[in-house]
Amino acid sequence: MTSGNVFLIGAGPGDPGLITVKGRESLEKADVVLYDRLVHPLLLQYAWEGAEYIYCGKLPQRHHLRQETIQDIMVEKARAGCTVVRLKGGDPGMFGRVGEEAEALAEAGITYEMVPGITAGMAGPMYAGIPVTHRDLSGSFAAVTGHTKAEDGQPGVDWKSLAAGIDTTAFYMGRKNLAAIARRLIENGKDPATPAAVIEWAATSRQRVVEAPLERIQEEAEKHQIENPAITIVGETAALHRKLKWMEKKPLFGRFVWVVKTSPRESTMAASLRSFGAEVLEAPGYTVDTRETKPPAPLRSFHHLHIAAEESVDVLLDELKQSRIDIRTLPGRITTESLRTLRKLESCGLFAEYTNESPSPEESLWIGPEHACRVAGLFSQKWVSHRLIHKKNTAEATAVLLQNDWINTIVIPSSQAVHILWKELDRHGISPVKWLTNKTVTAHGPETQKTLQDAGAAPDITLSSPDTKTLLHELRTHSLQE
Ligand code: SAH
Repeated sequence: MTSGNVFLIGAGPGDPGLITVKGRESLEKADVVLYDRLVHPLLLQYAWEGAEYIYCGKLPQRHHLRQETIQDIMVEKARAGCTVVRLKGGDPGMFGRVGEEAEALAEAGITYEMVPGITAGMAGPMYAGIPVTHRDLSGSFAAVTGHTKAEDGQPGVDWKSLAAGIDTTAFYMGRKNLAAIARRLIENGKDPATPAAVIEWAATSRQRVVEAPLERIQEEAEKHQIENPAITIVGETAALHRKLKWMEKKPLFGRFVWVVKTSPRESTMAASLRSFGAEVLEAPGYTVDTRETKPPAPLRSFHHLHIAAEESVDVLLDELKQSRIDIRTLPGRITTESLRTLRKLESCGLFAEYTNESPSPEESLWIGPEHACRVAGLFSQKWVSHRLIHKKNTAEATAVLLQNDWINTIVIPSSQAVHILWKELDRHGISPVKWLTNKTVTAHGPETQKTLQDAGAAPDITLSSPDTKTLLHELRTHSLQE
């Protein structure tokens, strides 16, 4: 009997960029993905788009899978020949129960690979500007569970040795026990003035850091209502947060932006937003399907070609190549009403007219994507050059983000994006107008603004010029809504 492989992968904490290359490559092969609460939802997009997703963590609306059930599912799916990915936050071997899961697989005779990840105890402080060791301040580091009740089956902590022998300690799962952790360390000889920091939702747009001497850290965490997931760092280097913090200084830190995508091209804008410190969901996700597309008549027979989308340019050039038509022999006008398409055409040596005037009276051909072809009626003929197909993996990421209510900024690049946003929210059972009220909404221009208003909402920002630079400037100067 053939059976599939299982990958037990560490996703890193927060920031989806913290997964290893090997982890990401393994995730791309997955037929089934079993993931936990602390896995960043954006990572789910890396899986093959036909993958099945199984949520294993706790959330109000979803039931919680027992450990045995998770193991049974992995075994059953692998036996059915699937490539299974078990995706865990941080490193799977660090308080991640990967040992139990690997044991179940080994007993079932299923092959598996273990892919390490960056653990929260190191990445969390690093995203707060805190190195866990330092030549002058700390020569040792320990990762310790802060969940120490004996009935949980966790090994007890040797507080005396920890207080005396370790310079920097990261306490996992310790938010609830923070007062007890501080007390025990001090009782066992740790200086009450030792710096300590608690980092909540490290490496995400919701990251918050509190820093205080050990004897006051609980009070400080309470004051700021720090909650799980949070990692506590005790040791001299924790004080470096004040001097070395960097994440919070990024101009768009704190923003989780949904770029409502109407085509694959909005990715450049999303990348800029990321580089300025925002987390970004690009959704809905699309792939471009150009199969089975042919012009309705030989291209040379048209006097006017109107190109509606950037992706159509590639399809057009392919067709010219296949039909052995030299670009120089194309007769008549080439027009477009999309600036990006104009630029793309120019990069191929075709200087088109930028216009939305009606087609020429002679034979005219509209070339564009299926979803926009209702405007093609004015032209003599139309050629659907491609289709945009929704990606299921982006839909899963969107669903989780909406459930967690992480998104606080919506970028709407066009009127068409308004319709898409409405449809997407509807699909997730959310009423758009209400949902948008406490979020920053940007419209790329007056037309998009009008479409939004017609739909009963209003943008907080209407860009004076529909480009990324203006968007970045506006988002930087507009304060985050609570
Ligand atoms: N395997 C994980 C840890 C799982 S235990 C790892 O290696 O990181 C869960 C604990 O990890 C949480 O209670 C919290 O203490 C810590 N943690 C995980 N992700 C975190 C994050 N993004 N920010 C802060 N703490 C985090």
